[in-house]
Amino acid sequence: MPKCLPIPELIERQSRNFRARAPKSDGCWEWTGNLSTTGYGRVSLGGQVFLAHRVAYFLANGECPTDLLIRHTCHNHRCCNPSHLISGSSADNSQDMVDHGRSTRGEQNYASVLTDKNVATIKTKLITPCQNQIILLAREYEVCPSSIRNIKSGKTWKHIEVVGFNPTPPALCNRTPIPELTLKQLRNFWARVRKGVGKDDCWEWVGDHIKKGYGRLRLGGRNFLAHRVSFFLANGELPSDLIIRHTCNNPPCCNPNHLKSGTCADNTRDRIVSGRSIRGEQNCISVLTEEFVTAIKIACKTPFPGQIKLLAKKYKVHVNTIQTIKAGRSWAHVRV
Ligand SMILES: [Zn+2]
Ligand SMILES: [Zn+2]
Repeated sequence: MPKCLPIPELIERQSRNFRARAPKSDGCWEWTGNLSTTGYGRVSLGGQVFLAHRVAYFLANGECPTDLLIRHTCHNHRCCNPSHLISGSSADNSQDMVDHGRSTRGEQNYASVLTDKNVATIKTKLITPCQNQIILLAREYEVCPSSIRNIKSGKTWKHIEVVGFNPTPPALCNRTPIPELTLKQLRNFWARVRKGVGKDDCWEWVGDHIKKGYGRLRLGGRNFLAHRVSFFLANGELPSDLIIRHTCNNPPCCNPNHLKSGTCADNTRDRIVSGRSIRGEQNCISVLTEEFVTAIKIACKTPFPGQIKLLAKKYKVHVNTIQTIKAGRSWAHVRV
């Protein structure tokens, strides 16, 4: 196992930028910047690329030995919460790899405290949700609540199949009531909404996004989905058990006229009716064509610094769109 690059001391601006891209929360501090193909956060410091969780460990502990591996106890590669990070020697890891192969997962991973049997029981219990279930299960199994949340959302332990258990996407299973916004928060909110010129145009969120393209903002230290906040502002209330759907099928849209409330079942029906599961060019959210994606993929074969930004600008899409194409997480059916 090659040694990792030593992490340099961060200057104030670098650590500020770093922390801004790993917003603190009660659970995992998910990296919102660049990701590696295996889903780890990447950060560039002084022209060198480092793994974000290693930098987080370094910032919290004052050191990050080059021959130590930093593991996630929460199994969430994007997580930069130092309390979810533990170090292990590369010797341990080599032994682990020899014993179990590179793709050791679940119980075979020595960082894990849950067993396959535990997870099957947890999944069975998750089928019938109850109040504070995540916290109670976390206590029962002596793990971090995010471990349970990740099992619930299908992020981890996917290979343990339990009849009747369906993963719930995190955005849908963990909703906090939206607080009243202060004037300053309101101004910040609307500053990040780009209203279309036409009466029926989408109002796209131009701030931070979550994976599926929904806008995200922070209010009083917590993350909220931008379109939910918009619905709340327009209607004065938002029952936390309801989801807000886009009639325009455009996740970043915050136009209250394109938003309606409904249940999860309604949403699934919508998806089927509108054919949102169809991929690539046929998908109505997409602004790229297969031709453009082919060109992007060819360009990415000869990378250079700043390329992602340039391509995003050229094709008028978000940098994340280019990153996911490059990493093969989207448009995987377009081969070059
Ligand atoms: Zn975590
Ligand atoms: Zn819209």
